[in-house]
Amino acid sequence: MNKFLILMLMTSLLSVSCNKSGGGGSSSEESQSAPITDDSGSDTGNGDPSTPTPTPNVPPQALTFSTNVELLNFNTEQAEKYNQAIELVKLVVATEEFRTKVLNHTYNGSKQFANNNGLTNAQIYQSILDAAEKLYPAKNNRMDLEVELYYANNSVVGYTNGSTTQIWVNTKFFNNYKINSVAGNLFHEWLHKLGYGHDSAATAQRPYSVPYAIGYIMADIAQDFM
Ligand SMILES: [Zn+2]
Repeated sequence: MNKFLILMLMTSLLSVSCNKSGGGGSSSEESQSAPITDDSGSDTGNGDPSTPTPTPNVPPQALTFSTNVELLNFNTEQAEKYNQAIELVKLVVATEEFRTKVLNHTYNGSKQFANNNGLTNAQIYQSILDAAEKLYPAKNNRMDLEVELYYANNSVVGYTNGSTTQIWVNTKFFNNYKINSVAGNLFHEWLHKLGYGHDSAATAQRPYSVPYAIGYIMADIAQDFM
């Protein structure tokens, strides 16, 4: 009897996430001046308890993807929040939905990203699993990063540059962000560490760049785990 109930529950949860990934197609890609602020609450909030999406087809590297993230200038509460976002990143990378959305991303009518460094979607997906940062070039399957909080009363959510292993995150946004948006922002900045860029101005193609598009995919799927 109990087993039956659990099975029913699992079945209904499964069909929910299937519908979601099926209908997704092109993820929410409004060009906004602030990246990854897209947490306007499309989740109707029936509070699915954290139900990991089944991961039957992902490569082993998606399941072993790990993180080595050092937090600088965080208080206890902020560190707890950021660590939850890091956990979301690992959960999402392990999903079939993440793999599918990266592989099927389209820009200008083709399966591709803008600013793709000449790489196919499959190569970009593989580069994420390899996790060979330009400044930590070993393919160690691990996100290596330092994150520092700062405060500035401007519209910059976070930033980094190519000569450092560090990213900076503005508490003006971080303190109010939902955890899935923090995860999306973290992933966006980390994709810069893998060598992906985007237009600095809010151009039409910028949302389709690797950091923006996959940052949105990350935030979108991460919401399912909250
Ligand atoms: Zn960026």
